Amino acid sequence: MIIKVKEWVSSLCNNTPLSKNNAIIKKQTFYLTLKEFADQPQVYMRTMNEGLSFGYETVQWDGPIPASEPVIHQIHILYWKEVELLSHVQLCEKITKLLIQTIEKRKSEYARCQFCKDLVSQEHRFDEQTCHSCASRQYGVVY
Ligand SMILES: [Zn+2]
Repeated sequence: MIIKVKEWVSSLCNNTPLSKNNAIIKKQTFYLTLKEFADQPQVYMRTMNEGLSFGYETVQWDGPIPASEPVIHQIHILYWKEVELLSHVQLCEKITKLLIQTIEKRKSEYARCQFCKDLVSQEHRFDEQTCHSCASRQYGVVY
C-alpha cells in the first residue's frame, strides 16, 4: 500500500506545480483509490487558498436516497508557508506521510458486518457490527 501511495505522490509531484499562486487560480482535487480495500474508498488531496488539504468524502444517508452533496472530512492541512520551506523531495515525503495518515483514518472507520462479513464503512452501517442491507434482512429495518 505504501509503495502505491509513493508512486502516486511522486507522479503527482512531478507533473503538477503545487504552489499557492497556482492554487488560487485553480482549485484541483486529486483522488487516490484504495483498490485493494473493501469497497475501494477514495482519499483526496486538494489545492486550496490556505494550503494542501487531505481527507475523504462520504455520502450522507438521511433516508433511502443519499444526499447529493458529499460530506467532506478534512483530516490534515499542509499550509503554503510550510510547503515553501520544503525541497521537492521533502514535499513529496510530507505529502506521502499525510496521505497515509488519511488512509489509516478512513480505514479505521470500517468494520466487519457480523452477518455478511463484509468490511463496511461507518456511513453504511446500521450499528457497529451490522451493515444496512443485513439490518434490513435481519431486523426488518426499512431504509
Ligand atoms: Zn452485512
